[in-house]
Amino acid sequence: MDRMKLGKTNLEVNKNGFGALPIQRRNMEDSIEILRTAYDAGIDFYDTAHFYTDSEEKIGNALGDVREDIYLASKSGAETVEEFWSDLETSLKSMKTDYLDLYQFHNISFCPKEDDELYQAMLEAKDKGMINHIGITTHKITFAHEAIESGLYETLQYPFSYLSGEEELELVKKCEEHDVGFIAMKAMGGGLIKNSKASFAYINQFDNVLPIWGIQKMEELNEFLSYDENTILTDELKADIEKDKEDLGENFCRGCGYCMPCPEGINISLCARMSLWIRRFPTEPNMDEKTQKTMEETLNCIECYACVDNCPYELDIPELLKENYEDYHNVLSGKTKIR
Ligand code: SF4
Ligand code: SF4
Repeated sequence: MDRMKLGKTNLEVNKNGFGALPIQRRNMEDSIEILRTAYDAGIDFYDTAHFYTDSEEKIGNALGDVREDIYLASKSGAETVEEFWSDLETSLKSMKTDYLDLYQFHNISFCPKEDDELYQAMLEAKDKGMINHIGITTHKITFAHEAIESGLYETLQYPFSYLSGEEELELVKKCEEHDVGFIAMKAMGGGLIKNSKASFAYINQFDNVLPIWGIQKMEELNEFLSYDENTILTDELKADIEKDKEDLGENFCRGCGYCMPCPEGINISLCARMSLWIRRFPTEPNMDEKTQKTMEETLNCIECYACVDNCPYELDIPELLKENYEDYHNVLSGKTKIR
């Protein structure tokens, strides 16, 4: 498997990174099996977060004994220095290690600069040997540019997939120019992309991009392990990508969840994508009673637009919810056929 240099960190990593958010949804035993299989197959970069419930603990249990053979990245969404230290200490303990290879600010509400106490805390953690490199993860393009231009960050983690547009491609290029490692989150479009081979081949074109595949099943892991540097964008895969882009258009919800919580309790990231889910994954239980109840809750939207302010893609969420609700009911009643 191909290897790549992760920007200024100079870490040489396997071009398949492991995104450890979804293993939260698996039990300890299954998670350990998946993580260990990934390790045995040569995956050596594992990205998690303090926020991902027991993900760090699962990594510690699965890979604690091979710590020196792998790279561990975690992140903290703390916005106070006290919380920052508490998060970092918890992460180290949970992952059974005394240092992290990469520590990232996790989608916080600003891009910390040198004179901010949070960035100073990062530097202190580095001085103490608790972390080796400093990165940032964000969904806001303005923060991403600020972070690259500041010269303070060795990596940027940002959503990137074959559904991304010109703005994201510019970001990838800018990272390359500034020698900032680009870590691609949501490389499967936040769950909307079905074609892992096309995803892999697309990302594989960029030497400076490290995808962290969000893996929660052994089958998913095995799919990614079956691809290698020879998995390139063929005409057939290019056609699949174009078809996918056409189907999704521009204004689709990526499921990032940054617009939540909604004060009315609406599950925006599920409901605003329902039309896509039921067409792309028709075998999933999207028509069950529980989901129907969740969709009914979209009627509670008071159009306060609080969510819209937090959507990095500037979607008209109340409108999207209405469209999805109507479509869902048309499918439920049989008025619209989807198979
Ligand atoms: S506009 Fe609707 S969905 Fe958005 S936060 Fe307000 S009530 Fe919730
Ligand atoms: S509506 Fe926007 S912020 Fe909310 S989940 Fe979708 S893409 Fe993310």
